[in-house]
Amino acid sequence: MDRIHKELSEAKSVAISGHIRPDGDCMGSCLGLYNYIQKRYPEVDVDVYLESIPPAFKFMKNSDKIHLDCESDKVYDLFFSLDCGAKDRLGKAAKYLDSAKKSICIDHHVSNDGFADINYIEPDISSTSQYVYELIDTSYVDIPIAECLYVGIVHDTGVFQYDCTSSRTMAVAGELMDKGIDYSRLIDESYYMKYIIQNRVMGYCLLNCELKLDGKVVVAVLPLEVSKKYGAVPSDFEGIVAQLRHTYGIEVAIFAYEFPTGGYKISLRSCNYVDVSKIAMKYDGGGHVKAAGCSVKGDIETILEDILAQVSEQL
Ligand code: 5GP
Ligand code: MN
Repeated sequence: MDRIHKELSEAKSVAISGHIRPDGDCMGSCLGLYNYIQKRYPEVDVDVYLESIPPAFKFMKNSDKIHLDCESDKVYDLFFSLDCGAKDRLGKAAKYLDSAKKSICIDHHVSNDGFADINYIEPDISSTSQYVYELIDTSYVDIPIAECLYVGIVHDTGVFQYDCTSSRTMAVAGELMDKGIDYSRLIDESYYMKYIIQNRVMGYCLLNCELKLDGKVVVAVLPLEVSKKYGAVPSDFEGIVAQLRHTYGIEVAIFAYEFPTGGYKISLRSCNYVDVSKIAMKYDGGGHVKAAGCSVKGDIETILEDILAQVSEQL
């Protein structure tokens, strides 16, 4: 507890960033830490940089203060990289890490090689949001901070279901509940509720998915022309691969969507024994043993053939 106090008490300016195409844990950990610093160290000048803000997380306090561009050349005393498994996944905000006097990485990706000056990397912790909670003085956690961290934990544990959920995760979630958050509404509105566009693209993927490798793998591909037709953007695809994984008999779920700039984003999930982070790392991606991703250029048939060959080796 309070393990980042020394650095925070010595810094006059702080920047926080997380991975590109931020998800719930990335948003929750970045804004949770931002709101904590503002509350506990009001004299510190703190900025958050994120590539985008998915609408489901706009309720988080100060989401409107997030800098979406990295045009300023400000040099910070301290830079936090949160929930980001590799430096290149910081996107444009990596320049603030390079120029900062000191950097701290807080993360739970197995594939993280520790690219900051101080690295808190724990693959066994459910989420970066939980990890942030473990490193701060929790007596300063108020309702808005608790909301951010709780939602981050909810998203990375699939509502306390995935096996990254430990009894400690539940204890932390319980402490956050005790701060007075409306946990039931938070789960519903940030995790389960979907916009109609999101339901439609999910419907397309479920309708068109295919079984491979004797039914051990389910694959769905979302071509650019389809996402364009529905007016959907990458943050609308959250949850599709998790739904594919809920198919009886499969071990691995693969979801690929086409980027407007060419190439595909691949999301991989496994149920029991396949280590998908190993597969993602072969394509310069990464993640966790049961949830990983990568970006790949080329023709989708060839990409999938290649990935399926690697899944097959592990099956
Ligand atoms: P998703 O499939 O939901 O995008 O990502 C699953 C997990 O893998 C997340 O923890 C995410 O941070 C990680 N991940 C996804 N894509 C990449 C990538 O291109 N590089 C790295 N290092 N990690 C990724
Ligand atoms: Mn995470």
